[in-house]
Amino acid sequence: MTDSSTDPIAQYRDLLATVPAGLWINGDSVAASTKETFSVDDPATGTSLLQIADATPDDAATALDSAVAVSEEWADTAPRARSEILRNTYELIREYADDMAMIMTLEMGKALPDSVAEINYGGEFLRWFAEEAVRVAGRFTKSPGGTGRIMVTHAPVGVAFAITPWNFPLAMGTRKIGPALAAGCTMIVKPAHETPLTMLYLAKLFGEAGLPAGVLSVLPTSKSAEVSTPLIADPRVRKISFTGSTPVGRTLIGQAAENVQRTSMELGGNAPFLVFDDADVDKAVEGAFAAKTRNGGEACTAANRFLVQEGIAEEFTAALTAKMKAMVLGRGYDSDTTLGPMVSVKQQTSIAEAVSKAVADGARVRLGADPENVSSSASLRLPADDAGCFYPATVLDQVPADAEIVCNEIFGPVAVISTFTAEDEAIAAANATEYGLAAYLYTQDLDRALRVADKIESGMVGVNRGVISDVAAPFGGVKQSGIGREGGSEGIYEYLTTKYIALT
Ligand code: NAD
Repeated sequence: MTDSSTDPIAQYRDLLATVPAGLWINGDSVAASTKETFSVDDPATGTSLLQIADATPDDAATALDSAVAVSEEWADTAPRARSEILRNTYELIREYADDMAMIMTLEMGKALPDSVAEINYGGEFLRWFAEEAVRVAGRFTKSPGGTGRIMVTHAPVGVAFAITPWNFPLAMGTRKIGPALAAGCTMIVKPAHETPLTMLYLAKLFGEAGLPAGVLSVLPTSKSAEVSTPLIADPRVRKISFTGSTPVGRTLIGQAAENVQRTSMELGGNAPFLVFDDADVDKAVEGAFAAKTRNGGEACTAANRFLVQEGIAEEFTAALTAKMKAMVLGRGYDSDTTLGPMVSVKQQTSIAEAVSKAVADGARVRLGADPENVSSSASLRLPADDAGCFYPATVLDQVPADAEIVCNEIFGPVAVISTFTAEDEAIAAANATEYGLAAYLYTQDLDRALRVADKIESGMVGVNRGVISDVAAPFGGVKQSGIGREGGSEGIYEYLTTKYIALT
């Protein structure tokens, strides 16, 4: 029995017991070869949720052997049969959606509605790729010179290795697992050590849905580099798919170069959010609020910089500030919470430091943190014992264009607002970054919308929309935001090779 007076998450212990706490290898939950475990903690209270098996390089080798052993059989499995397993798993996610959302909030911190939204979004990738699995087509044509015929076919890349981040513990996995399994690849997933529970739960559902042993392995570990480096060094791994920070992505691309492995890299962002003075300001504020606070701001598509045309800047800033002030900061699983804690002390500290520097750089605090004392703001409603990694909704304006906070990904609920006068100036400011993942613009002038969308250097642009992620659309960036696309009809080709067969 657990005691609710000493255990703040006592009421969730039975639910947590449904998560397989071992490594998921060969269709089973197994202890690490060393029998070691690590603690997954609740960011709202610091309480240990579960002890999870801590994978070692030996365990990774076992997982790889199992993935290789079934690789050919899985590639030869009828696309319809692969499709049905993905679809069955999607149905199981629907069935267990409430449990999965709560497990996600417990490990990641975000407010429960954000987890519910992610379970929906993450599950959809399996439904989408169940549908794509049976649509992969080649092509057949005559050579222009009449010298023969050209046949083009596609085949699974082979064993794929995915490294996923903590901010979307399900969706960043299903966005890789869905297309990989649909294409006929086997896959090993290394989830972030902060949030392995949702992924382990998903592995269990795949097992229930009839996925053959070995096709999917999950390797939680506290030693990411130690476990992933030998896997990437093994030439039997043919594809690396990563979502996370640009520095780690760069390291992985370097490692993959050794075996010339295919890579998909979904890396950091620095999304500009442009609001022109012909925009519907109410809608722009609504979109800005969503683009800034969805997932607690811990999203690579989060609006990182608001660039607002001078004439409407004060109206926009005041309205966004009011909306952010109304957020309720608290434990993600408490019913009135709209802003949960950040995932870790590391993230909380990194945001606090970025805000402190911005204020030193000349930014004005319109809402939120006194950087020296995050508990002092009137907008906070922290739990009594604020042991968690909380950071309050914050709005900064009059932010200089060269301030550090404008150049780096914030990954938290901090809105940074600057102004511009002319369209060209706004486009130049939007593009003045090494990143190019998402961008947003608000205007009621269609010509301007298309002109600006065209000139912004990013993989995705939202026009009068603050949330753009869609399973049916290609997700990915340009510049240092990455390589490759996930989702859409493009996503499955990241896991397929192209073969040309020359015929007479
Ligand atoms: P990270 O890049 O260090 O971690 C992402 C994943 O990579 C995790 O699974 C981690 O265990 C793994 N990893 C880390 N180092 C590795 C290595 N050397 N070899 C193999 N795997 C490794 O990100 P973070 O430290 O958790 O967050 C830092 C910043 O990264 C955030 O503030 C944010 O700006 C950015 N980030 C972006 C995304 C995104 O969706 N693009 C996701 C998470 C974090």
